[in-house]
Amino acid sequence: MHLSRRGFLSMSLAAVPAWGREGTATAYLKPGDPGYEEARRPFNSMIRLKPAWIARCRTEADVIAAVRHAKELDLPVAVKSGGHAFHGFSLNEGGLLVELSGMANRLLEKGSQRFTAGPGLKLRDSYSWLMERGRILPAGSCGGVGLAGLTLGGGYGLFAREFGLTCDHLLEVRLVDGNGEVRDSRDEAELLWACRGGGNGNFGIATSFTFETRPAPVALASQRFTAKGLDAGGLARRLERWFEIAAALPDPCFSAVILNGSQATVLLTSTRPADGPAFRSAASACLKSGFTSKGALTRPLARALGSYEGRPGPLPFDNVSAGYYRSFQDLKSVAGGICATVRETPGLIFQVNTLGGAIARGPDSAYPHRDYPFLGELQAYWEKGEIPPKLAAGHAAVRRALADAGIRRHYRNYPDPRIADWQDAYFTGTYPRLQELKRKLDPDDRIRHPQSVRLPG
Ligand SMILES: Cc1cc2nc3c(=O)[nH]c(=O)nc-3n(C[C@H](O)[C@H](O)[C@H](O)COP(=O)(O)OP(=O)(O)OC[C@H]3O[C@@H](n4cnc5c(N)ncnc54)[C@H](O)[C@@H]3O)c2cc1C
Repeated sequence: MHLSRRGFLSMSLAAVPAWGREGTATAYLKPGDPGYEEARRPFNSMIRLKPAWIARCRTEADVIAAVRHAKELDLPVAVKSGGHAFHGFSLNEGGLLVELSGMANRLLEKGSQRFTAGPGLKLRDSYSWLMERGRILPAGSCGGVGLAGLTLGGGYGLFAREFGLTCDHLLEVRLVDGNGEVRDSRDEAELLWACRGGGNGNFGIATSFTFETRPAPVALASQRFTAKGLDAGGLARRLERWFEIAAALPDPCFSAVILNGSQATVLLTSTRPADGPAFRSAASACLKSGFTSKGALTRPLARALGSYEGRPGPLPFDNVSAGYYRSFQDLKSVAGGICATVRETPGLIFQVNTLGGAIARGPDSAYPHRDYPFLGELQAYWEKGEIPPKLAAGHAAVRRALADAGIRRHYRNYPDPRIADWQDAYFTGTYPRLQELKRKLDPDDRIRHPQSVRLPG
């Protein structure tokens, strides 16, 4: 009997056994099936990639079965947890997608306060569940982001300067490799090293994470400062001044500067009271630099975090890393040009966030950018359809300016598919070691996306 490839696939996958450890069978969905679009849907609505099959996994055994099926059928495998990848690296065209949102289990060990989470857990659920128990896992602030993708690429946010990156809190990880075998970092220490910043869809599918947690701060102090109606020179001066103010902050503080049109906004937060000396001194420096503010707020942590959750998606955007910086000097030669472009380009946002503090003192890991106290992000948002040409041109102009200034290092969790030398940009000296792990865990390059670690040679 002649079977088309599609017919073969449907027969083969229809025969999927109920291998789930807890007796659950994976749902295998193809385009048009009820639930397919919900499982596929990424946060970035511009991503139109359509896997031939989506395996909605509920257990590690489901993941093993899905990878083995992909191997039998010689299909590439993509991995989706929270679906917040900027550029579709958690989907593929015509392959198999392992979809993990149903694996959102969590457990807090009494005594040790170690937190074990499934890959489907979202940041909002991680924070709220742990806060009810008096703990936090430091992570980003946008509630819908997946803990899995965030951790595997690093993970910074309001608490990272005080406690370290999310991946620095990772103690153990389990993953299913490209052959469908379970690997555990308790047996292979290299896995832990790699999954601290170098693990996004590179050589395996993480099925369980165990983290160290921290006592939850009672409250978060915050203050917002704005300067409006600025020309390019005024924006650049505020940007330079912000770098100086932010460089002097103590570890419990986080800050970001956001340039949008003719407005500069500074956010300052701290896990210490707003009337403490460091917060007051930074706030007063902002006010003296031409910013205005309605004053500081001190809110219970849960309420404060709720206010930074971000816009609900899906929505169209083109966001990328704008690079790591040691100080304003790294940007000085192009800052005026970037500010002029942002000012003239509706929808274009240039943001710089503080890193440093405990991040610089973090463990040996695949995350290679610990020396850099600042991280930039270039964001482009529009309403619907394709990106407006003016916005695309402004986005490209800022990326060119950054390259001209010699900004070469970028954050893996803010990927840009247009970076040619992405291996060096994201992983720098750690790339060869990640390639060795790739050879060991995924010799057929089964698990892959456009910027996944390549096999050596
Ligand atoms: C609105 C928004 C806000 C953000 N805020 C922050 C922030 O504050 N701090 C910060 O550090 N980052 C932030 N990010 C970036 C975020 O960390 C990355 O987009 C992250 O990779 C998303 O993880 P995810 O699980 O949601 O994504 P997914 O799209 O599911 O996956 C992202 C990547 O991780 C891989 N991956 C996912 N799950 C697994 C798994 N189980 N095993 C192996 N590989 C896997 C995928 O292959 C893909 O390459 C933000 C992103 C967005 C869109």
